[in-house]
Amino acid sequence: MRSIAVYPGSFDPPTNGHCDIIKRSSKLFDKLIVAVAENPAKKYFFSVEERIAMLREIVREYDNIEVTHFEGLLVEYADTIGAVTIIRGLRALSDFEYEFELALMNRHLNSNVDTIFMMTDEHYSFIRSSLVREVARLGGDISDKVPPVVERYLKERFSQK
Ligand code: ADP
Repeated sequence: MRSIAVYPGSFDPPTNGHCDIIKRSSKLFDKLIVAVAENPAKKYFFSVEERIAMLREIVREYDNIEVTHFEGLLVEYADTIGAVTIIRGLRALSDFEYEFELALMNRHLNSNVDTIFMMTDEHYSFIRSSLVREVARLGGDISDKVPPVVERYLKERFSQK
């Protein structure tokens, strides 16, 4: 049986922290599905199409990684793609409480799907999408925090404003 894992997130935009989790976790499974969340109740900076396009470029050379999007319950989506593992990343202790609740809720909703946490690399522990957006908006250097494609998208977006 092929092992399939799903790595869900907003990826608004994807950062080097996300990329590190994607690349490391793809080695542990036959297939990794990076699933971009599209929650109509949430306002995103980049559209789902833009977030998917950035991620597809980032994982282009990886044969076992696919990028898709999902709406609604993650555990239901996991079932439809045959994934029994959810990957989440952990940075600091501050991530833990939220991720812990989320994992317990997901298990409650579907006990066939388990959540596995990957510890961030120490270089990326302070990187989060919202902070990267803010630094980019103010014209700061983000080249060591996001992949080149994301830097390009951010520069383009902020030069239009
Ligand atoms: P969400 O809105 O679902 O939290 P994010 O795109 O912010 O989506 O994050 C997706 C996942 O990646 C989460 O599990 C988050 O903790 C993890 N993550 C975000 N940034 C990093 C990072 N720098 N290092 C490791 N994991 C990270």
